Amino acid sequence: MGRKVVKSEEEWRKELDPEQYRVLRRKGTEAPFTGRYHGSRDPGTYVCAGCGRELFLSEDKFDSGCGWPSFSRPAGEVEEQEDLSHGMARTEVLCPDCGGHLGHVFDDGPRPTGLRYCINSASLRFKPRK
Ligand code: FE
Repeated sequence: MGRKVVKSEEEWRKELDPEQYRVLRRKGTEAPFTGRYHGSRDPGTYVCAGCGRELFLSEDKFDSGCGWPSFSRPAGEVEEQEDLSHGMARTEVLCPDCGGHLGHVFDDGPRPTGLRYCINSASLRFKPRK
């Protein structure tokens, strides 16, 4: 599939900080309750830390208690694919523009969507609404 943003591993490594690189490009997971945004309630938009694409809105953020930023739906399209790593069957969520790993989506979210997009803070950059 064609990506809007294509960079070499070398370029990503230079541009991202080590934690962003580990999560976005190596499909890592930040430790729960350690990220910048899990408790954030400010109004605004969460964009991809890799490429700036708009991904989630504060209106869809809820406190899941899981220690990662949780959203009931994405702002627009995100990429989802089956992830069978670590002995689990999960659905991985990726940025459609740069292919960066964002987190996973689970079906234990609040109504009406019933979804919980469990997203690493390291994959996101918050743009406050003025
Ligand atoms: Fe991206």
